[in-house]
Amino acid sequence: MISKRLKTIADFCPEGARVADIGSDHALLASYFIQQNIASFVVAGELNEGPYQAALKQVHTIGAEDRISVRRGNGLAVLQKGEVDVICIAGMGGQLIVSILTEGADKLEGVSRLVLQPNVGEELVRRWMLENGWQLSNETILEEDGIIYEILVADRGEPMLPYRNKDRSREELLRLGPFLWEEKSPVLARKWMREREKWQKVLNQLRRSEKTEAAKRAREVEAELEWIDGVI
Ligand code: SAM
Repeated sequence: MISKRLKTIADFCPEGARVADIGSDHALLASYFIQQNIASFVVAGELNEGPYQAALKQVHTIGAEDRISVRRGNGLAVLQKGEVDVICIAGMGGQLIVSILTEGADKLEGVSRLVLQPNVGEELVRRWMLENGWQLSNETILEEDGIIYEILVADRGEPMLPYRNKDRSREELLRLGPFLWEEKSPVLARKWMREREKWQKVLNQLRRSEKTEAAKRAREVEAELEWIDGVI
């Protein structure tokens, strides 16, 4: 059974698309794409030997060698230019996702959609989209087994549009997610409540610290808490 997170990622891929799943691990998403007839062809890219072998085995088990190409390599280096329409990158930090997209910029030519699921650092991914000619076209937030995930979808196009809102600045929307902020789901509120708890613990520790820089850092954390209080 595929997870709700991976299924939601797959739901954002147009039917018949040629898809790359970068960091495919056991190729579960790639398999789902083919078994559900969502993608016509999938490249499953994987950097590390263990998961690469697991992906090969999985593709063999479902007999999909003709429609899933498992390749070992770093980020988008496994792709030929123009080979896929959609790139999915899931389950990594936002910083790593951005570096994969930046290093592989030449492979994005001809790609029409990105479906990205950063575990942390969503703001970095939205900022990269904004600065690199990608229109954030959809977002969703979900909770599975107690973990909250955000999925960001980008299409080629006018990068500014979704970041307009009368009560939040562009910088705030980069953090909150413009679509998520419009929707204001209970999961989004829960995400920021958890952030609040995390920062409150940091603040409590800083207040107990006798280090000279602790007071300055505590003021920064107080400002962060005040901002979070304004969004939950
Ligand atoms: N995408 C799957 C998911 O969301 O369930 C697997 C996520 S797993 C936490 C991250 C995978 O990305 C690992 O299998 C890791 O080996 C792979 N990975 C990390 N950096 C990579 C890179 N630069 N290029 C390709 N794969 C990478």
